Amino acid sequence: MAEETTFYGLLEDIEKYLEHERDEGVQRLEVDRAVLEALAKEPEAEVAEEVVVEAAPVPDDFQSLEEVARHISGCTNCELCKARKSTVPGEGNGAGPDIMFVGEGPGAEEDAQGRPFVGKAGQLLDKMIDAMGYERAEVFIGNVVKCRPPKNRKPLPEEMQMCLPYLRQQIRLIKPKVIVGLGGTAMEGLLGKPVGITRIRGVWQEYEGIKLMPTFHPSYLLRDPSKKKDAWADLKLVLAELGREPRKR
Ligand code: SF4
Repeated sequence: MAEETTFYGLLEDIEKYLEHERDEGVQRLEVDRAVLEALAKEPEAEVAEEVVVEAAPVPDDFQSLEEVARHISGCTNCELCKARKSTVPGEGNGAGPDIMFVGEGPGAEEDAQGRPFVGKAGQLLDKMIDAMGYERAEVFIGNVVKCRPPKNRKPLPEEMQMCLPYLRQQIRLIKPKVIVGLGGTAMEGLLGKPVGITRIRGVWQEYEGIKLMPTFHPSYLLRDPSKKKDAWADLKLVLAELGREPRKR
């Protein structure tokens, strides 16, 4: 079923387009003033109510993914709770899947729908999963932070620190055979230190005894499609580890 594109999804598309133009060396674009004014008004509607940020300890003995998601939905442990429309705990096969994908955090479309990787980058991730020979529902897809960073900025180290206990608990409950870290920020969250994704992609790492493969984030691949072959090489290493073959066409 085709999913409705929300206003925020359109904004994300515009942002991706502008990033692409910038990457192509475009310095200047003509934009109608009325369009800019209309876009500038919308953020007022995003903040529904004043939220008080109050850090509370995250339990380390959740019994189910639903329990983790419920706790996340009421979490105000960092500033990212203030502008979120939804929390995005993650979704998929939570019972020992072959693969768990971990990204950076929700974008506009994910924030609007409360689901991970449903924008343009998500569509590319779906294609990657399909090429590997899996259905989306057979893997688990999550993020380091569960609330959208404003303007899709990188989550701050303190925001990642506050949110990581949820991911830790999810991984404990899900027990994936392999984790795929999508992009430098996801890897920074998982390894607990800044890393250069270009340097470590394709090189096996470990997260609490689970094999961890770093590769490029689908958003980056949309901006630089020439890197898709590198990402595919990384995913083939994952398949080899799992004793699987890519989907035959
Ligand atoms: S990003 Fe994580 S720690 Fe911050 S408010 Fe959302 S769920 Fe809580």
